[in-house]
Amino acid sequence: DHLKKYFPITGGVLQRTVGNVKAVDDISFKIHRGESFGLVGESGCGKSTVGRTILRLLEKTSGTVLYKGQDIHGLSRNSMRSLRPKMQIVFQDPYSSLNPRIKVGEAIGEALLDHGLVDRKDLKDKVIETLKICGLAHYHYDRYPHEFSGGQRQRIGIARALILNPEFVVADEPVSALDVSIQAQIINLLSDLQQDKHLTYMFISHDLSVVKHLCTRIGVMYLGSMVEMGSKDELFRNPLHPYTKALLSAIPIPDPTLKRERIVLKGDIPSPANPPSGCKFHTRCPVATDLCKEQVPEYRDMGGNHFVACHLV
Ligand code: SF4
Ligand code: MG
Repeated sequence: DHLKKYFPITGGVLQRTVGNVKAVDDISFKIHRGESFGLVGESGCGKSTVGRTILRLLEKTSGTVLYKGQDIHGLSRNSMRSLRPKMQIVFQDPYSSLNPRIKVGEAIGEALLDHGLVDRKDLKDKVIETLKICGLAHYHYDRYPHEFSGGQRQRIGIARALILNPEFVVADEPVSALDVSIQAQIINLLSDLQQDKHLTYMFISHDLSVVKHLCTRIGVMYLGSMVEMGSKDELFRNPLHPYTKALLSAIPIPDPTLKRERIVLKGDIPSPANPPSGCKFHTRCPVATDLCKEQVPEYRDMGGNHFVACHLV
């Protein structure tokens, strides 16, 4: 609710704060139990920061994060620690968070021991069970991270999150580093796990065609703000924000009789330390007017749980 996460920029000899990177700049949304909420936008728009802040892996700047009604940024260290297994994250590159000298089985079991969720004698069985659920084999327990392919490493990353028996999982670009053929396998795994374990997901991706397969609702972020949100069907059928339209137009359509004009956005995403005035998208928007440079568009409910922030809608 009105979540902000700013990172201070320091400068000069005294390292005073000279500005802020407004990574997340006042966004509000809900994720319902059992759903898969997709958060999309170009890299650098603040998606990962949202993911980490709602899990309290990062402290917020302001706003509130409620998890089942509980203000998690107000919890003590101990209460947060006991809640931690319930809310897990899967990273884009699990390899970077695996110690190359620790056997994969031990790395997966570590958190379980840490949280005191298992007796040491049952640990290995539990890890092997989780490896299998994630499409790996019992003999992988004793292997080292470098012995695995990209897709297998992502299975390890998922196993590490899953072994804690979470309710809510943030998947931060979990397939972006993988070959397209492997992407589908990992998406299917995540989808199966969701059904079997009744998981709730927030699935972060810069690729709308990836969230299309997994998500029921989608939020579109641009430069720290939520610019559009709605059900997947609504968003794909009736995108309202010019930015969403541009993102959608970049997805190839398999049917050659259907024509969709590709909207190419000019320029790069501006710096979140110095965002454009008015509508932050105005420097790249193909239909911007003078008003857009001056006034911040209100984030409005268009009915049917479809929200959008644009003067022209
Ligand atoms: Fe484009 Fe203006 Fe709408 Fe922003 S408010 S998306 S600049 S038309
Ligand atoms: Mg990211």
